[in-house]
Amino acid sequence: MILLDGAATAKSIKLEIASEVEALKKAGKKIPHLAAVLVGEDGASMTYVGSKVKSCEEVGFASTLITRPASTTESELLEIVRQLNNDPDIDGYILQLPLPKHIDEHKVLLAIDPEKDVDGFHPVNVGRMMLNLPCYLPATPAGIIELLRRYQVPTEGKHVVVIGRSHIVGLPVSILLQRNANPGNCTVTIAHSRTNDLKSLCASADIIIAALGKPEFVTGDMVKDGAVVVDVGITRVPDPSKKSGFRIAGDVNFAQVAEKCSYITPVPGGVGPMTIVSLLMNTLSAVKKHR
Ligand code: NAD
Repeated sequence: MILLDGAATAKSIKLEIASEVEALKKAGKKIPHLAAVLVGEDGASMTYVGSKVKSCEEVGFASTLITRPASTTESELLEIVRQLNNDPDIDGYILQLPLPKHIDEHKVLLAIDPEKDVDGFHPVNVGRMMLNLPCYLPATPAGIIELLRRYQVPTEGKHVVVIGRSHIVGLPVSILLQRNANPGNCTVTIAHSRTNDLKSLCASADIIIAALGKPEFVTGDMVKDGAVVVDVGITRVPDPSKKSGFRIAGDVNFAQVAEKCSYITPVPGGVGPMTIVSLLMNTLSAVKKHR
């Protein structure tokens, strides 16, 4: 079994990005500037945004964190989006999801300039991804693809079962894996909460991408020998033995599944760090595109 070490891979990609930033600096060019908008005080969102900003600093990007209370109105948020769209110093920005319930997420996402949408959530970028045109790919699916690429995991002709059909993970990773590309050329089945007999479906899969948000859902009996398993799940599970009061659990029962796999991602240290570097890669490409 080979561990798909997202933490180590992300570290080496960050070094590559940092040296590109250094070269931009030496050439007297502007360094990339990523902004992040966080509305509300959700603990997990604060952690995610915090690590994105910290990663910007690690690679030499400029970063701006805009925080607003949960009581922020939709029109106030739309005004922030308008300002970011018009700010020539900002190369790309992200809006940390979920937004408070009283804000129409689609309306705000639609207002983001697709050229600055480094999360790849704007319909223009989603559409371009569908058509295999240049675009910003959503960070988590792009991170999974990059991890498979760097470990040269064979994907051509493989049957992939993606568990989860969300717009940010399950659906886009399915699109990317069926493309005529490497990694890609897979035969993809998308499973979701209404799928019948998921157990046998998974047992026939060469590759399983688990992105459903149910801790340790994928068990040993669901995985065939030699399968590749990518665990996207991040759930905080109460754990009184931890100082924080919780531990992070993936969607895969690692202890049962790992021994049957050819490749597997750990949680933490698998897909999570790759998601963050994808965002940095998108921001770097925004700079190259515009300047
Ligand atoms: P989501 O809640 O939007 O979607 C979950 C999907 O799982 C849905 O499509 C649903 O139909 C499916 N599902 C739920 N129960 C199921 C079941 N019993 N059988 C089959 N399918 C089922 O979740 P999401 O935003 O895609 O996130 C999924 C998980 O990935 C979460 O734990 C989230 O925290 C994590 N995540 C991790 C990263 C990362 O960087 N590692 C990024 C994004 C999301």
